[in-house]
This record gives sequence, C-alpha cells and structure tokens, in this order.
Amino acid sequence: MEKTADIVNAVKQAGVTGAGGAGFPTHVKMQAQAEYVLANGAECEPLTHVDKQLMIHHAPEVVAGMRLAMQSTGAKKGIIGIKAKYKEIIANVQAAIGDQDDITVFGLGNFYPSGDEQVMVYDMLGRIVPEGGIPIDVGCVVQNIETLYNINAAAQGKPVTHKYITVIGAVQQPMSVCVPIGITIQEVLDLAGGVVTPQPVILDGGAMMGEVITDFSLPVTKRTKMLLVLPYDHQLSAKRRTPRTVLDAQAVASCDQCYYCTDYCPRHAQGHAIEPHKLILLLASGIPLTDAQMAGAMLCCECRTCNYACPVHLAPGDIALNIKRDLVKAGLKNPYNRQTEVNPYRDYRRVPMMRLINRLGLAKYDVAAPLTAVTTTYTRVTLNLSQHIGAPAQPVVSIGDNVKAGDLVGQIPNGALGAPIHASIDGVVQAITNKAIIIEAN
Ligand code: SF4
Ligand code: SF4
Repeated sequence: MEKTADIVNAVKQAGVTGAGGAGFPTHVKMQAQAEYVLANGAECEPLTHVDKQLMIHHAPEVVAGMRLAMQSTGAKKGIIGIKAKYKEIIANVQAAIGDQDDITVFGLGNFYPSGDEQVMVYDMLGRIVPEGGIPIDVGCVVQNIETLYNINAAAQGKPVTHKYITVIGAVQQPMSVCVPIGITIQEVLDLAGGVVTPQPVILDGGAMMGEVITDFSLPVTKRTKMLLVLPYDHQLSAKRRTPRTVLDAQAVASCDQCYYCTDYCPRHAQGHAIEPHKLILLLASGIPLTDAQMAGAMLCCECRTCNYACPVHLAPGDIALNIKRDLVKAGLKNPYNRQTEVNPYRDYRRVPMMRLINRLGLAKYDVAAPLTAVTTTYTRVTLNLSQHIGAPAQPVVSIGDNVKAGDLVGQIPNGALGAPIHASIDGVVQAITNKAIIIEAN
C-alpha cells in the first residue's frame, strides 16, 4: 500500500485506535505531518507484558506497521523505544528491521514513567512538548506497539476484532492472551485459571493508571490492556477504592507541603506548571475547584508518580487528576501554553521500576505472563459503541442480522471523531442498546 490516503483510509475503516489504553482514533494521528514516528514499547506500567510479547512473537508485523505510519505521516525516521534491559527483544526487533536504516531502536531506562509520551519524546530527541501540547507540536507522532501491529493488519484489510491483554496478579496462571473484543472480564480471568483470592478487585489498566473494576461481567474493549487482580485488602486496592472526599480530607489534614510530590512529577520536571503540592494547599484554603489558580491541574498526565513520592502516603496524584477532570467537565480551557525548559534535576527524580514494584506491594506478582494461545470458542460478545475517544459508533445492523467476524456493525457518525466497530465472532445480532451491540453465536 503506497498512497497515504489509502493507508489512512484502511486504518480508519479497520477501526484502529490507540491500543495502549488511550483509545484515540489512529487514522487522525496518521494524517499528521511528522518528522518522526516514535513507537512506545516502554510498558512502564508495572507488570505489563503485552507489548513485549508482541515484539517477541510479531516483530515483523510491528516493524511493517511502523513503515506504514512513517509513509502516511511523511516521517523520515522511525524510532522504536524498548527498555534497554530487554536485550533479546531488542535483538529480535532489530532482526525484523534488517537493513531499513531509517528505523532504529532506542534503549529506554527502567523507570516510571518512561512510557509517558512527553517523557519519551524528550529522552529520545531532547525535544520538550510545550505545556498543554502533544508530541506533534515538536514534530513527533507516538504510536503504541499493538497499534502498529493493528495498522499493519488494517493495510491487509483486517479490522480490529481482538485485543491483547495481560492478566496478572492474584490469578492461577498469569498470562498474556489475544481474545475477541466483547467477551467478559470474567472469561479472561477464566483463561488464567481463575482468581485465587476470595474478594478480588481489578485495576483495569494497571497499578498506576488503571481504574478499579469489581463488575467482572463488563466486556473487553479496544482499550483493555491489563487486568491486575488484587486481594480486596491489598494496600493498592484499598487506596484506590478510598472515596475522593476521604483522600481530600486526609491530604488537607496531613500534607506538610514538603514538595516531594511536585519534585517527582514528570511533567513538572519538563518545566510545566503542574504542582500537586500547591493544589492541596489551595484545597486546604477552600479555593473553589474552578478558580484559575487550580488550572495547573489541567497539565496532569494522570501518572500518579506523585503518589509514590509522598512520604506520608497521601494521594496527590488522585487529587490532581480529579481536579483536572472537574475542570474539563466545567468546560475550562487550559491557559498554559509555554514552551518550557527541563528542570536540571529531571534525571535524578526518576522512579526505579523495582523500587516502585516493592513500594506498591506487587513484588510477589512480578512474574512472567507469556503469550498463551486461546482455544476457547466464545458464544456471546457485547460490543460497546464507545470504545474510543470521540463520538460513540452508530449501529449499522439490526436485531436478527447474521454477521461474520470482521463485519462492520457500528460506523462513525457523520463528521465526528470516532472509530467503527466490527463483529468479533460469527453470529446473530441479539440486541442493540444505546451503549452496545450484542452478538450471539448461532
Ligand atoms: S499524577 Fe502527579 S506526578 Fe503525574 S502528572 Fe499528575 S501531578 Fe504530576
Ligand atoms: S509529598 Fe505528600 S506531604 Fe509532601 S507536599 Fe506532596 S502531598 Fe504533601
């Protein structure tokens, strides 16, 4: 596939979205004009394995996806970021690159959050994304490894019907799997031999940036990347289930303004005006959340590095991200757009991965999760219409229609940002709600 419009259209029709969890429609990124395409293979969420497994088992497809992303954006250079410690994976990817000398591998550090796209852009190229900006502001498009894999499949006419997921933690057999989109979380847990704790809590997306789920009948979506299963009383599970009012009250009562949270904030280290300690001071002063002084929260990337940094175990990251979400909901626009300079201490404020895993109480779950073949046949899937950033897909099928895996069932509304949805199994459309299309096998 040579023409940019053909590549972009194939990616759009295939419903490719950011597979790292962001869910941004990929065809939009593919239309940008860039100098560099950067592949994010950092997997800096503790215990994630999907991208490593893809680079072990499907490196040629990932590199082919990089080539297509470079073609469509006009980028002259592609750089695949992989943690330097994974020497065998790097060798595997380099073998797939072969003599394409416009694609290289960059060895990333083993710290959190080495996969934050702005951190990665600076580490790889020494360019700082301005406040409130995105990598294209400095000539870069960043794509996740699984997204590149899906871009390559799209160019061959294969839509996104399956999702790679790591299921790890308190399960019988941790593993990475490729499953049809729309099966339940419980069905993924069953593949891993089931949970081994009486009252499990799942962090969907991982220990640092994941969201708590306790309803395991929810469906897998294009954004599902990692299911970290924890006992109910695990310190991380307990902290993440703590209501916002309690987190705020604890911070107001106990924060000594030591500044560690701000010191370790990776976006603050890029010179951006995000200062979690100050947000707590403002909360304590009774400043309304919509006050302009709170606006620095809009620069928070929701990484929760500051939670790790806090010596008295407060949750400045949750406070910052909650304020940010409130400000966005209130329609406030980010007022910060400066081109900044990095803090000279930036490189000394990185969180070593092993220290983070130990601090989070995850050392016992830090095991391999190899890609494991799925032989189960699934008879029912629930395809959410909103699995991506933008407008929900509009159903283009009716109840009773026969569909085959790969058939289009939901289309992008006219003129909207979004991604189409495809059937992930053969079957009959059983129900259509305002949230999902349900397909059952014949
Ligand atoms: S979560 Fe904390 S460390 Fe991360 S960007 Fe927001 S304020 Fe900074
Ligand atoms: S690190 Fe903790 S105690 Fe120190 S300023 Fe931040 S929230 Fe307050």
